[in-house]
Amino acid sequence: MGVIVKGKPVADALLARVQADARMLVEKGAPLCLAVILVGDDAASQIYVGKKHETCAKVGIESRMYHLPATTSQESLLDLIQTLNEDKKVTGILVQLPLPAHIHARQILRSIDTHKDVDAFSMLLDMSGDDLVPCTAGGILELIHSTGVQVAGKNCVVVGRSNIVGKPMAMLLLQENGTVTICHSGTVDLGEKTKQADILIVAVGKKKLITADMVKDGAFVVDIGMNRDGEGKLCGDVDFEAIKDKASYITPVPGGVGPMTIAMLMVNTVEAAKRQFAAAHPE
Ligand code: NDP
Repeated sequence: MGVIVKGKPVADALLARVQADARMLVEKGAPLCLAVILVGDDAASQIYVGKKHETCAKVGIESRMYHLPATTSQESLLDLIQTLNEDKKVTGILVQLPLPAHIHARQILRSIDTHKDVDAFSMLLDMSGDDLVPCTAGGILELIHSTGVQVAGKNCVVVGRSNIVGKPMAMLLLQENGTVTICHSGTVDLGEKTKQADILIVAVGKKKLITADMVKDGAFVVDIGMNRDGEGKLCGDVDFEAIKDKASYITPVPGGVGPMTIAMLMVNTVEAAKRQFAAAHPE
């Protein structure tokens, strides 16, 4: 049976590091504060935002919550972001997605000061070695690193090309010298592509999309999907039971990638604050 790669121990180790860094920053008198903006009443978003606040409190990061009505205009959201961009006490800004349909999400994300963009979505196309990385993709890379498996030289197949998961994941694997194929809903014969993967990353949102016959023996399989099965239980995009004996490493759902996303948000928040403090206090 393949190694089940659990996220919690790796996330806990990252959070312990973040907590130590946060304490050091606060002792130096450096500002460290994450501002989270939630527009509307999407139930899942409220849960995610709640977890972010809880984790901030746990590791010693101040957090502020801006909960705006679903009718908020583009202009007033841009005004709020501008105010937060200029507020020296705020070192990280996060706009919870999805935004209501009348708001132009890309323009909103691009208006965040890049030094404070802890979700790092604005870095997508010109990512370089020392940029902050989008949280889910960055968390997955940490998980892969935690096993000692190298990405360089591997055939990596990413299924899904969203701006928040699939594309940044592909960019990060490319940066680590993987040979990357990106699949999507228009891909012809998905199984032929996924069978080439030494590292297979699936971010679609369809339960059991990936079956055992679509996976190469000994592959590293990362399942990002979050779906509900017939009994309402959380499950991924990968047929875990059928694939766990074929894969060399596999992440479960729940308990695999999930805990890594928030841990990486905390890593990014502390890193952004460190950089802003260093820029304001050159030695
Ligand atoms: P999106 O719906 O934005 O993107 C889904 C992607 O899957 C699209 O690129 C789409 O292709 C592709 N796709 C759809 N059907 C198929 C198919 N039959 N074959 C191949 N590709 C297909 O979703 P997200 O990227 O935001 O999220 C993906 C999943 O990951 C969801 O289940 C979400 O809940 C989960 N998630 C988990 C996180 C975590 O922390 N664990 C964080 C973020 C997301 P096309 O572009 O052509 O439409």
